[in-house]
Amino acid sequence: MTAPIPLGRPGAFGRSRFRPASRPVAPVAPRIRSVANGRAPLFAPSGHPLAEPAISAALARRAEEIDRAFAAIEPVLVTLAPRQFEPGFAERAAAEIASVLGVGVEPARLEATWNRPLDMVALQASLVLRTFARLVERTAARPPAVEEGEPVAEVVRRFGFHGVDVSTCADGRLGGLLDHVLRVPPAIVVARKSFAGAMFDVEEAIARFERVELGRWREGRPNPASEPTRYLKLGVYHFSSLDPQHEGCAAHGSDERRAAAALLARLHDFAEAVARRHGEATRPAILLVGVDTDTDSIRVHVPDPAGEIDLDRYLSSAELHAATRELSREAAKEEIRRRVAASIGVAPDDPATEGMRWFCGYLLKNNIAQVEAVLARFGGPYPDRGHEERLVVVGDPIDDVQLRNLAFQAQMRSIEEGEGDLAVGIRILGERLAPAGLAVPILVLRTFEGGLPGAADRAAERAQLMRRAVERRFSGTGSAPRILVEAAIRAAEGGSLRFLSRDVVRANGCSCAQREGIG
Ligand SMILES: [Zn+2]
Repeated sequence: MTAPIPLGRPGAFGRSRFRPASRPVAPVAPRIRSVANGRAPLFAPSGHPLAEPAISAALARRAEEIDRAFAAIEPVLVTLAPRQFEPGFAERAAAEIASVLGVGVEPARLEATWNRPLDMVALQASLVLRTFARLVERTAARPPAVEEGEPVAEVVRRFGFHGVDVSTCADGRLGGLLDHVLRVPPAIVVARKSFAGAMFDVEEAIARFERVELGRWREGRPNPASEPTRYLKLGVYHFSSLDPQHEGCAAHGSDERRAAAALLARLHDFAEAVARRHGEATRPAILLVGVDTDTDSIRVHVPDPAGEIDLDRYLSSAELHAATRELSREAAKEEIRRRVAASIGVAPDDPATEGMRWFCGYLLKNNIAQVEAVLARFGGPYPDRGHEERLVVVGDPIDDVQLRNLAFQAQMRSIEEGEGDLAVGIRILGERLAPAGLAVPILVLRTFEGGLPGAADRAAERAQLMRRAVERRFSGTGSAPRILVEAAIRAAEGGSLRFLSRDVVRANGCSCAQREGIG
């Protein structure tokens, strides 16, 4: 209860490679069940006062469901491959794929002859993309966020923020950031985009800010512009506590200080740009958070009363997890509040910093439940320290399937803009998939506003353009890994993905005459 405040002390950042002196890797309690027979158990309640057993169990069930869906692909292909020349194979195979995997493949794409056998590698990659799309459709399965009485969106507004815009790294290990790591409900997230190294585009972020503010002025959504709330820009970098030199952020050379400093500079640029364009009163609040991809614990760099963020000043949820383990739930929450206030040298009832302190405490409390869930599931840090992503998503973001290491998400408006991000993703997945004889599945996704006339067609055109650009840039060059690219569109409001056929491309004038696998 009276333990010293676990702040990264001044200077500790550089000397200890960003770690507080006492290593904040979450301690492993003996009561945790261990991994048995290579299969991780679902969440087992362990008694931490801030554990959220129901939510953690729902998240674990969802994770298992996702793993099972992808694991089912290979056995289907193993049974189909030797039968491909049998009469009537294409229809039967399509039916089997639909019944076992729940995804549709046109029979025409499964027709094989002795001199043109099925491209099983392309089919496998395509089924990975379609399985991902099927999981996206099941948005109802997304587990609930932590709520205590009042809806979180209302509490967040009461504490002074009308929307949270999250920018993070494209690294797939952050794929569960919203549901698992931060456990924030979609209702408070007005934007979420990933870029290699979390290096978001300031101009694009300003446009998103303006869109939200326009909604407040014109429609009073999410709250009227007359209410004195602020836009909160949350920047999330990542690091590896177990292998900081190799498993940190690839875009920043696995250097956590560099990753944090670059993101903080960009957050400052964004806030300053908004203030210059729209006046000081509109200046967004900014917050910097680091995620340890080995344990899912976070560092919250609590801004001081002037809003300043210090790379060396942060609260670690791993330390708070240990410090609050023996307390009651209320006492644990109180201890978090006390430490957040102490970290910036203000009283726990300081009115000027109340909103931001509450938000920091909210993130830390939520995340302690995730730290506990990872411990309970694996008996320690994640067994897969590095990259295990199954696909790359290019273009627009897709957040409906929240799971660590599911997809490398490289968001961009054009390949020219995001070529570097995409190259990182293809390299990372290729290093694992190519030796196994597999192709890197790439989903080009463009979203459109459902209510706008012609928007779906325009999105389809953009998606096809981007697909062709990805293929031109990354297909068949020397030792590069093989890729399979498919394009899809989706309404921004949600719903299913619509895959675009390559025939449409040909009709629009693509001169590509070769047989294009099973695309
Ligand atoms: Zn990264």
